[in-house]
Amino acid sequence: MKKFLGLVMCAVMVMSLAGCGKTAGGTAQEGILVMATNAEFPPYEYHEGSTIVGIDAEIAAAIAEKMGCELQIEDIAFDSIIPEVSSGKADMGMAGMTVTEDRMQNVDFSDTYAIARQVVIVRADSGITSLDDLQGLVIGVQQGTTGDIYATDEFGDEYIERYAKGMEAVQALTQGKIDAVIIDNEPARVFITENEGLIILEEAYADEEYAIAVRKGNKELLDRINETLAELKADGTLDAIVAKYISAD
Ligand code: GLN
Repeated sequence: MKKFLGLVMCAVMVMSLAGCGKTAGGTAQEGILVMATNAEFPPYEYHEGSTIVGIDAEIAAAIAEKMGCELQIEDIAFDSIIPEVSSGKADMGMAGMTVTEDRMQNVDFSDTYAIARQVVIVRADSGITSLDDLQGLVIGVQQGTTGDIYATDEFGDEYIERYAKGMEAVQALTQGKIDAVIIDNEPARVFITENEGLIILEEAYADEEYAIAVRKGNKELLDRINETLAELKADGTLDAIVAKYISAD
């Protein structure tokens, strides 16, 4: 019965173009909340067998449940997420996505739900100890991420190697093909445990915050997302989800 009520509410939301499904001009389906992500970003979203798990996946599931919608996760290239959301193919973009002024030209962002940092990974024996040492070196990034955008801006395009996945950049670093990787702190921590001989510089490259992207002007969905985030923060669910994926050390 609960499920039935949920579906009805979801359908109502759809009819008023409020939430899951059929956003105006979009192809997202009725009764389904479509989340666009790039599931190469542990612990926020990654593959575990055939399912996509992680902090974002769980927050998204909670949002969908609140709205009485079925969650559908689409795994696409990171730099396709904003176009999918702004064209209405996906209802929301959730991918450890940093709020930036530029992105705000194309999508609206929810309240933030995580604080993050861009960090620098280097080989432990490289002698690189600070951000100043990066001048003139080759830096690997994941295509289209803030790490890519900021590093390209600061060091120049000729010093940047772009990869489809952060993990590929880290592997290239291990193999000595590049000198450093700039990437978000939590994936960095995961990747250095999976590749030997790497360290994260203490000095962070940039501070940022993550939020959920929706199509510009989709205020009703944004309100629902923000309400849910506030509830998840207030009742401890968000902390519990984070604690499940990130150890406090
Ligand atoms: N936080 C970074 C950004 O928003 C990277 C996100 C990601 O790679 N999924 O650009």
